[in-house]
Amino acid sequence: MSIKLAVPNKGRLNERSIEILNQAGLEIEDGGERKLYATVKNGDLSVMFLRAQDIVRFVHKGAVDMGITGYDLVLESGLDVHKLMDMGFGRCRLSVAVPEGRGIDTVQDIPDGSRIATSFPHMAQKYFESQGKKVEITVISGAAEVTPHLGVADLIVDLVSSGSTLKTNRLKEIAVIAESQAVLIANKDAMVARGTEMEELASAIRSVMDAEGKRYLMADVPVASLDEVRAFLPGIAGPTVMNLVGRSDVVAIHVVVDKSAIYQSVNRLKRLGATGILIVPIDRMVP
Ligand code: AMP
Repeated sequence: MSIKLAVPNKGRLNERSIEILNQAGLEIEDGGERKLYATVKNGDLSVMFLRAQDIVRFVHKGAVDMGITGYDLVLESGLDVHKLMDMGFGRCRLSVAVPEGRGIDTVQDIPDGSRIATSFPHMAQKYFESQGKKVEITVISGAAEVTPHLGVADLIVDLVSSGSTLKTNRLKEIAVIAESQAVLIANKDAMVARGTEMEELASAIRSVMDAEGKRYLMADVPVASLDEVRAFLPGIAGPTVMNLVGRSDVVAIHVVVDKSAIYQSVNRLKRLGATGILIVPIDRMVP
């Protein structure tokens, strides 16, 4: 029996989830919003497209073995699922925000009895209780940021990513309740029964994430500069150095470099007389 993996069928997490699985070598076709099942051309895996909110529940019930969803939704559900890994995208924070110009700068300034609009009632409730604040929570299913201007709430608890939605709606972030990003979760019983296969999938995803910040650099380097090049291009296990046929003065080097160090590295290589510099992306890095 293949492992059942649930992937968000729309929203911020959909596209990148499919991209990562494809990069991990699973060749999943995005069926679009109406499709429930994806075809996986290889791998012992069946993929289901579900709403990110539902994924936590289905994983918890064991209807699917694993799922990709937002950590904010896992926290809000309060359900006991196993988090296998953070996936490094869909980063956001659940924050308290108030209309500008109300003289509220901290949570302590919030008057008791304030009305709060949110799609995260459990986390909001727990947070305000922990702060000793008595507030009235109104559950909404989205667009919290308009509610203070409509007069139906005094402040909001909502997800913030760049902060531009808050700014547009003249709201000020005064506290962060939790940090979130996309996570890979698993059903706890399935973990016991099929831990090895699940860890294989997690490890394939991890290899994509590890490769993301890296580039593969190739260059022809004068032998005389090799020691200096080695000093600033340490690679994973040091650069691979290869002889070029018919050349005793030049060698070829291949090395994995942090994306952020590419610009400097190329400049230094050129100054040391390197030629034929090639930089290519890496799909996966499997240690
Ligand atoms: P931003 O303007 O970038 O701060 O984004 C804020 C808006 O996007 C709010 O309406 C949030 O509910 C939503 N949002 C931001 N990040 C996420 C996320 N990772 N998952 C779901 N919704 C998000």
